Amino acid sequence: MATSEHRQHQRALVAELQGTACRCGASKKAKQTFCRACYFALPKGQREALYHRVGNGYEAAYAAAILTLTEKGRIAQD
Ligand SMILES: [Zn+2]
Repeated sequence: MATSEHRQHQRALVAELQGTACRCGASKKAKQTFCRACYFALPKGQREALYHRVGNGYEAAYAAAILTLTEKGRIAQD
């Protein structure tokens, strides 16, 4: 079920994907979720999951990756 909160979250994820700032503060390429250092800090399964599309598994993959990067101290907690 797509609530307006959910759609807002999806828009934020798409905006972040299109942007060039990684959550850790480094620069990244547009259409990539994270910078190389953050991306390669993720376990293989989590890296692969980020290839899902927004609305089709990306949100869960993103949430898992953020948890990992937070645990590793690469990004600050919200
Ligand atoms: Zn990063």
